[in-house]
Amino acid sequence: MEEKLPEDLANLSELDEKRLLEVLTGRFTQNLIYTYIGDILVAINPFKYLSIYEKEVSERYKCHEKKSLPPHIFAVADRAYQSMLGRLATGPKNQCIVISGESGAGKTESTKLLLRHIMELCKANSQLEQQILQVNPLLEAFGNAQTVMNDNSSRFGKYIQLRFQNSSVKGAKINEYLLEKSRVVHQDEGEQNFHIFYFMLAGISMEDKEIYGLLDPTHYRFGQEDVVQAWRVKYAEVCNAMDMVGFEEQVRTKPCLSGDAFFLVKTCGTCGETIVCVCVCVCFCKQGQFGVQEEDLLKSLTCTTSVTRGEAIQRLHNQQQAEDARDSIAKVAYGRVFGWIVSKINELLAPKVDCDVELNEIGILDIFGFENFTVNRFEQLCINLANEQLQYFFNHLVSMENSFTHARFVPLFQDLFLTKPIGILSLLDEQSAFPQATDRDFVDKLNSKFKTAPNFEVVRNHTPLFTIVHYAGKVQYNASGFLEKNRDTIPANIRELFINSVTPLLSVLFAATISRTGTLMPRKAKVLNVCVLFSVQHSLAVLMEKMFAAGPHFVRCIKPNRSKQPDQLDSKLVMDQLRYNGLMETIRIRRDGFSWRPAFKEFAERFVFTAVLLCCSFRSCRLFFKYWHQEELARLLERLGRAALVIQKSEEQLNSFVYPSIRL
Ligand code: ADP
Ligand code: MG
Repeated sequence: MEEKLPEDLANLSELDEKRLLEVLTGRFTQNLIYTYIGDILVAINPFKYLSIYEKEVSERYKCHEKKSLPPHIFAVADRAYQSMLGRLATGPKNQCIVISGESGAGKTESTKLLLRHIMELCKANSQLEQQILQVNPLLEAFGNAQTVMNDNSSRFGKYIQLRFQNSSVKGAKINEYLLEKSRVVHQDEGEQNFHIFYFMLAGISMEDKEIYGLLDPTHYRFGQEDVVQAWRVKYAEVCNAMDMVGFEEQVRTKPCLSGDAFFLVKTCGTCGETIVCVCVCVCFCKQGQFGVQEEDLLKSLTCTTSVTRGEAIQRLHNQQQAEDARDSIAKVAYGRVFGWIVSKINELLAPKVDCDVELNEIGILDIFGFENFTVNRFEQLCINLANEQLQYFFNHLVSMENSFTHARFVPLFQDLFLTKPIGILSLLDEQSAFPQATDRDFVDKLNSKFKTAPNFEVVRNHTPLFTIVHYAGKVQYNASGFLEKNRDTIPANIRELFINSVTPLLSVLFAATISRTGTLMPRKAKVLNVCVLFSVQHSLAVLMEKMFAAGPHFVRCIKPNRSKQPDQLDSKLVMDQLRYNGLMETIRIRRDGFSWRPAFKEFAERFVFTAVLLCCSFRSCRLFFKYWHQEELARLLERLGRAALVIQKSEEQLNSFVYPSIRL
């Protein structure tokens, strides 16, 4: 007979790493992929179909008693929904579900299951439900790609907010983070471009192909000889999803996409330096893909014009410069089309209710996990930074009561990244502003500022390398290309050209500047320096603020093996993930009887020092109180003169002063 293994690890009296792994492995071999650690759900990717998501199952998980049914992703959805309705405990109405795990661990699948179950729970009207459910295939086509880690890897992060009036869903909003635009022009060995390119080339009708002037797939840099049948079906699905969500401009998006594809035409071997680009340009301009004059585009790609003493001087690009210009247009165009799709979805799904109606939210965060590759670039730095912040959020909520080790570590790290004026990102910003600065200069600056910082290691090499000690391990970054990626700009002449495009969508997209929140703003609005970094920092801060103000739910996804095989579990790999996730620590805390997030009053009374300490040390926590409990905090501080005094102290003093007395 199979051993009955515990469903909730927080209930075990004796629990060490060995036992934890034993239980998870045992459950996994019985196809029990879900396990609780208190209220956290651990989900191990089965890499195979399991019949646990059927309609009867989701019926059973509607409004159930947590202990009465085995752990399940539907149970998390149910709890979030019931909490939003105020049926479980008093706490904030808004809820957020944070899904984490490394690439291929099952985050996006979990997100879809959560969405599906929530739609069931609130008995959405069928049209809105369909619209919401179709958002995923749509976004996946444009934002996912095959990578070595995952055949359907999300190359962007998303926060989906479902908006409710009482128990019924009224609309949805999506925030997207950090789309990996560089994938449009470069894919590492064994990886692909975004799905949409393959779907489109395989699935488009002959007629449309002609209209958009699309060539055979082999003509594109990312092209493949064999068109996979499944891609044809996928293309039809994407078109259908666009219809269902309500896109009318589909026809207008398509030419723009095919235009993008044309940028990826193979470089012509017989051409000389700058002419390489000319070949490329001629190909797509003949088709009029971008709605701009062929000659103008050629000129802007092959030379720069500068004005010196009133005289226009043209300088021809060399091959590298011309290719860079081509690539930067492709990246910007793709990024903007993606952003446009998201804002269009938001427009279509915006709740249609009177503005005085109170709406509550359930947010689901699906953001790529920690990454550590052989070569780590700017994208990895951004992703790892986002994870660092999420981990901070998690640790903060879970470990606040018992130990400050995590909470203390992460802010140190945050200082390194974010502190102005000398955080890593600020330095990057500063260097990006100098046109002459190189990636080497940036790394030299880092080395001199942070050589003694505990989370930073200097790497002596002629390549601009540096190492950061993240919570999940050491990562060495290669800073080549950092400045260019951070600047993320396109040459002014190219931008002007596209603004004047007769293709309306392109004209709008290029005319817009990205606002601080990463949404598109009309051109004349205050022009901000379009810095990836800025929007990364800012959009993460906004996200954190939202999350701190909501009732949290955590799903920790675990990848059982690297080869994406069912029924195989690599113990070391799993153990590493449990450690990175802070789950070991969590178990200890849970076992000590920490009930889920106490009501604020209770919390504040018991954790006065903590509250005050946090509120002076870390910006996001300050937001937490300000945003949510400003009045309560003010009252609290009034009552506790001593705590208010603490607030006057400097941060260093605080660290030494308060930490020893933290254990309450
Ligand atoms: P992530 O978003 O974490 O990178 P995905 O959610 O895309 O990972 O999952 C990767 C793959 O793993 C999926 O394409 C699917 O094949 C498989 N998978 C994930 N979760 C499940 C599940 N619950 N049941 C079956 N297969 C799953
Ligand atoms: Mg994903």
